[in-house]
Amino acid sequence: MYACGPTVYDYFHIGNARTFIIFDALRKYLEYRGYDVTFVQNFTDVDDKIINRAKEEGVPPGEISEKFIQIYFEDSKTLGIEKADIYPKVTENIEEIIEFIGELMDKGYAYESGGDVYFDVSRYEDYGKLSKQNLEELQLGARVEVSEQKRNPLDFVLWKAAKPGELSWESPWGAGRPGWHIECSTMSNKYLGETIDIHGGGRDLIFPHHENEIAQSEARSGKPFANYWLHVGYLNIDDKKMSKSLGNFFTPREIAKEFDLENFRFLILSAHYRNPVNFNRELLESAKNGLDRLYTGKNNLEYLIENAEDRIPMENEKEWLENLKQYKNRFNEVMDDDFNTADGIAVIFDLVREINTNVDEKATKQILQEAYDLFMELTSVLGLLGKKEETLEEDIERLIEERQKARKEKNFELSDKIRDDLKEKGIILEDTPQGVKWRRV
Ligand code: AMP
Ligand code: ZN
Repeated sequence: MYACGPTVYDYFHIGNARTFIIFDALRKYLEYRGYDVTFVQNFTDVDDKIINRAKEEGVPPGEISEKFIQIYFEDSKTLGIEKADIYPKVTENIEEIIEFIGELMDKGYAYESGGDVYFDVSRYEDYGKLSKQNLEELQLGARVEVSEQKRNPLDFVLWKAAKPGELSWESPWGAGRPGWHIECSTMSNKYLGETIDIHGGGRDLIFPHHENEIAQSEARSGKPFANYWLHVGYLNIDDKKMSKSLGNFFTPREIAKEFDLENFRFLILSAHYRNPVNFNRELLESAKNGLDRLYTGKNNLEYLIENAEDRIPMENEKEWLENLKQYKNRFNEVMDDDFNTADGIAVIFDLVREINTNVDEKATKQILQEAYDLFMELTSVLGLLGKKEETLEEDIERLIEERQKARKEKNFELSDKIRDDLKEKGIILEDTPQGVKWRRV
């Protein structure tokens, strides 16, 4: 699957974060369902906004984009977003983009005009099929940039002639840089082939971005571009789309000053991805309450497991456990129906209630453990309740560092003790040529 990623000229806001979280959770869900997922998300690292910011700060554009790519990784990690498999960048795919445009020219779908190259929309019959508009309607309502160079106002730029002093690359049409839409068609084709399973982004991308991606890709290959499209509804403030240009935005860093960002992730997944979410403080507080209830369920179970008797389960306990599996089936069912995470979370709450009302100190360890595993399996599909695990990992990393230091100082008594302590906690250390690695027993 391919998701349109950020233009890296600034911190991303929580509206962007909504879209990134949805694709991360979708990927996790598909993997849980047994699919082999290759997830590509691009970085748009050539763009007017980047060039302008670079001018303002008096640095090369590459410095701006590299900085905000690193910040993207830091901030997405705080939102529980796992890394995609591939993060292609425009600047690393210029050759492929030029080749792609060349093929469109050869096939008669593109024309050159004054050093620019445009896609000729009139040559592509299906134009408008994604946004469900016909050419006439589109032409009437076109708020598309009109330019002297275009034959038709709907035609869109594939290659922009360089302005003096601007970042540019040599091409058969002279020095210039790629238009925005062509990068996704080219990189999607390069890494995932002519037809991909899933493509998406925020719903602002339906028209013209994704419409144009379809036109370019299908004109070139003659094959369907994407089998499924997912467009994430807006995160709004006062019913207006959160956006940089309106100035009505918050960054994850701002939210993190007051709330654990896992609450924000929970808020996002509590809504259906297609619906708008009108963001406000109350919503975040009620998300916090909801997530706290899940953590309470988790902590209770952990306490019971620790204190439970390890005996053979009774028949009625086994039956109850068997019955519990229906929650997993229900979870799969609602999630399979257009990725309804809102209903998925509702099923998880039902499961917690069922567990809470049916187990106590007298339950068998094995039964408790299996109920716990089921609960944790479903929450981890959504990337939730991972908090303890992470601090545990940080603690382990810290102990490993202490052990390394002790070894350097030839304090083998201490280094052996740390190793043994970790072993007791179920963590095995291995000294490898790449350094110390750890794993669970
Ligand atoms: P951009 O960096 O503007 O290209 O945006 C990165 C991603 O965030 C794209 O998939 C956008 O569609 C998405 N996006 C932008 N604003 C919002 C919003 N307010 N709500 C949801 N998604 C958004
Ligand atoms: Zn795109």
